[in-house]
Amino acid sequence: MKTCDNASVGILVIDSAGRHLMFDRNTAPAGCAPAAGHVFDDHPGYTEAAHAEVSEELGLTVATLELLPVGGWRDNRCRRAPGPRGVGHQWQLYRATVTGDLAASDRETRNVRWLTPDDMQRLAIRTTLYACGRLTDVEFAQTPGIEPVWVRWFAELDIIRISPADLGRIDHIAARGTNQEGETA
Ligand SMILES: [Zn+2]
Repeated sequence: MKTCDNASVGILVIDSAGRHLMFDRNTAPAGCAPAAGHVFDDHPGYTEAAHAEVSEELGLTVATLELLPVGGWRDNRCRRAPGPRGVGHQWQLYRATVTGDLAASDRETRNVRWLTPDDMQRLAIRTTLYACGRLTDVEFAQTPGIEPVWVRWFAELDIIRISPADLGRIDHIAARGTNQEGETA
């Protein structure tokens, strides 16, 4: 198993109508999310990783890249062995415009689609149900809401609305990798 580098990049691809290009992740952790990935194993820095992940996961070329005022350290679990800083990642998030024709990775993605803010809100509610124990890990993986680690940033960017209590529950899920007490993914 690879060791985590404790660094992640995420890229919000947003069109002129304000829709977000998102997909259901085929790799753990489950959830509907924008393109994202680790940084320093294959790339010299965050911006290079941002370009590469959009290309690898969506088959698209980044035209413009703007650093967003959200991100920072999160104790979210990934599928790798914990890195030098333990479990978690220093995140930088970008907003991107893209060119090219969508050619998503079958290995990493499924159900790629453009989501309106209303769609995003519905998916955030599904993640809340999962965090409250009303959906199993399997049910959430089959038909996911927003990937838990992303919910806080979409709330901070005023794209979705969620109560502080529910956000706390969802952050807890992001750190554990499961909503089953006594287990870790
Ligand atoms: Zn990691």
